[in-house]
Amino acid sequence: MIRLIFLGAPGSGKGTQAKRLAQKFDLDHISTGDILRDAIKAQTQLGKMARTFMDAGELVPDNVVLGMIKEELTKRCKGFIFDGFPRTMAQAEGLDKILKELGIQISSVVNLEIADSLIVKRLEARRLCRNCGQEYNLETKPPKVEGVCDLCGGELYKRPDDTPEVIVNRLSVYHQKTRPIEEFYRSRGLLVQIDGSRGFDEVSDSIEAVVEKNDSV
Ligand code: AMP
Repeated sequence: MIRLIFLGAPGSGKGTQAKRLAQKFDLDHISTGDILRDAIKAQTQLGKMARTFMDAGELVPDNVVLGMIKEELTKRCKGFIFDGFPRTMAQAEGLDKILKELGIQISSVVNLEIADSLIVKRLEARRLCRNCGQEYNLETKPPKVEGVCDLCGGELYKRPDDTPEVIVNRLSVYHQKTRPIEEFYRSRGLLVQIDGSRGFDEVSDSIEAVVEKNDSV
């Protein structure tokens, strides 16, 4: 069964790629960022607590995120893609424990590599549909009508954490806390490096090649 982890900085394109891949291969797309944003929208206890961290570009505490993941995994019976998780060594180690308890294994860890300068440009130009979640980029993939989603006519918005100051903080958190995980998975032979600075289709093809290889073993 295909069970993937997508690593990469915010703005590396992992969310959009994960969504597309999940659709094509009928996998569950488990995005901790999406789960937390849904909790904020629904004004739950979790959402209220997570909001202060997210607005500042800080990470939500490990025990909270691991609790969410455990709940998600016990509901799942098909393959999945983790998008935005794990983000710290403690989360990677916590995930290992949960997987052992469930008797399952990760097939591959895809790491989308991209320079910080490109990330800042991408995130500042990113817009999302409030209604269907479709992603746009004002420079490389603008909507046909300004501020309106091509697919559903919904309103486009800029994520509150896509502002220059918060982006700088998210990147620094990423380098400090998330990058060390790469070595954790490399030493287990699971890490696959992919150049995320190329066009969407080229990156998709490289990721699909990884999935097809996993699927055939
Ligand atoms: P994302 O949509 O993946 O860019 O996540 C947006 C924000 O949600 C992050 O900046 C964090 O504040 C929070 N978040 C998402 N995933 C995690 C995680 N695995 N651990 C801690 N915080 C997270």
